[in-house]
Amino acid sequence: MVNQVKDQQHIIIVGGGLAGLSAAEWLLRQTPSFRVTIVESAHRLGGVIQTVNREGWLIERSADSFLSARPEGIELVERLGLSKELVSIRPEARRALVWSPQKKDSGILLPVPPGFRLLAPGRIFPVLRSNVLSWFGRLRVAGERFIPKQKKQCIDESLESFAIRRLGQEAFDKLVQPLVSGIWTADPSRLSMAAACPEFFKMEQDWGSLTQGEKKRIAQLHGSVDASGARYGQFVSFRHGMQALISALECHLRRAGVQIVQDKVISLQHVGSAWQVALGKQIVRANGVVLAVPAAVASPILTTVSSKLSAELKQIEFAGAAIVSLGFHRQDITHPLTAAGMIVPRIAGKRILAASFSSSKFAGRAPDGSVLIRAFIGGALDAGVADLTDDEVLEEVLVDLKATLGLRGRPIMVQVDRWHTSMPQYNLGHVERINKIRQLEATLPSLGLAGGAYEGVGIPQVINSGQVAAAQAIADLNPHMNKSF
Ligand SMILES: Cc1cc2nc3c(=O)[nH]c(=O)nc-3n(C[C@H](O)[C@H](O)[C@H](O)COP(=O)(O)OP(=O)(O)OC[C@H]3O[C@@H](n4cnc5c(N)ncnc54)[C@H](O)[C@@H]3O)c2cc1C
Repeated sequence: MVNQVKDQQHIIIVGGGLAGLSAAEWLLRQTPSFRVTIVESAHRLGGVIQTVNREGWLIERSADSFLSARPEGIELVERLGLSKELVSIRPEARRALVWSPQKKDSGILLPVPPGFRLLAPGRIFPVLRSNVLSWFGRLRVAGERFIPKQKKQCIDESLESFAIRRLGQEAFDKLVQPLVSGIWTADPSRLSMAAACPEFFKMEQDWGSLTQGEKKRIAQLHGSVDASGARYGQFVSFRHGMQALISALECHLRRAGVQIVQDKVISLQHVGSAWQVALGKQIVRANGVVLAVPAAVASPILTTVSSKLSAELKQIEFAGAAIVSLGFHRQDITHPLTAAGMIVPRIAGKRILAASFSSSKFAGRAPDGSVLIRAFIGGALDAGVADLTDDEVLEEVLVDLKATLGLRGRPIMVQVDRWHTSMPQYNLGHVERINKIRQLEATLPSLGLAGGAYEGVGIPQVINSGQVAAAQAIADLNPHMNKSF
């Protein structure tokens, strides 16, 4: 039952994932007199983010860390008083390995050349010294700075086309494709540079090359890091897992009087100057609404409000993936696991996209004498994973881990987490579509759309999207408010 106090402004947040919770936290700070209700269809808050504790294993069902370079995540953590719980990736694990196919079916795990960030070779020497690429491939990367930038910046370009143009086919196949697919689980021939990797797209325009642009970025970063005395590594998590963020947010919101209702929102309608939010068994009135559900869910909710907006939201594609968390006795894996994880290029013909060495990254993830590995399988180029049973997924993963890490025994703990349509695909045309969505959203009074489907899937971006959507939801109610995030 959602109670309403007469004359008090009421904001309803649909969806209690990180985007919705961040919207609520922002509203509490900016408009403490407003009444805030979160409607969440699941029995728990947090959406895809969830940590499971099982007999000494600490398993992340989805996100296991977040980038501290963008401020939104760290600032939220600080406001919640959680800074002491933050943990950085252990120094000895701050590198990634890449499976490098050799003759026949064999291969070897090699370090990704230090300084090579997604698409940008920050340092050329490590690339020249690395055996990941042939001599031809290395020289092609070294020559990146001499490749002229595209004269007229095209509106959109696929990641595959951009990477091959700048770095060559071999660097794309053996480094860029696996690095990117570990994050986006996307088809690189459809992934939009402008939407997914705008920073690198801009580097070419601003500095003429990725090598130069990355050097400048590092120089600037070191300047500011030294100045502020950086306290955290690049990627951070929490001592007891990512759930700590969700639990702290929930506790903070409940304490401040935010009402949390477990129900499914079916539709929205704007009647007079208010929103009518149709839940399973009741209709609730609100002055403003934040829609923080996946775009595919927001689309039908908005059909009667704006068929155009609903149609645009429906066009955003999502891919599925599975994460297989595996516990092993330490002696059953021959590889030393001294890295954050490994990525596997598509040309290797294996099914896994990547594997994270969770117990190498963070302390307290596995019981003594054991290790925890998370393998990723599926994505836009392997939709067939959705048709496999959990046992079949496990066997596929074990075959690949045996070949790459030298497994000698069976896992002593297994958890398969399926994410059928949780990975938004920023395909070609995404930026244009989001512009249209934002224009249509702006024509609707006091409505904000939030979540990973729009302007970034990472945790800091999703927090930001919740805050921006909350500001949008109250913009028409309180125009003089300070809209700082
Ligand atoms: C497998 C995986 C791994 C990831 N790893 C990382 C990582 O390591 N680092 C990182 O930064 N990011 C990572 N991400 C991305 C990041 O976790 C997500 O982008 C972010 O958590 C999404 O939050 P959200 O609130 O937008 O969506 P969600 O978490 O999907 O929340 C939406 C909520 O809406 C609710 N809902 C749906 N329909 C309705 C309805 N009709 N009525 C009411 N409620 C409804 C759902 O139950 C859910 O709780 C990962 C994502 C996935 C899927």
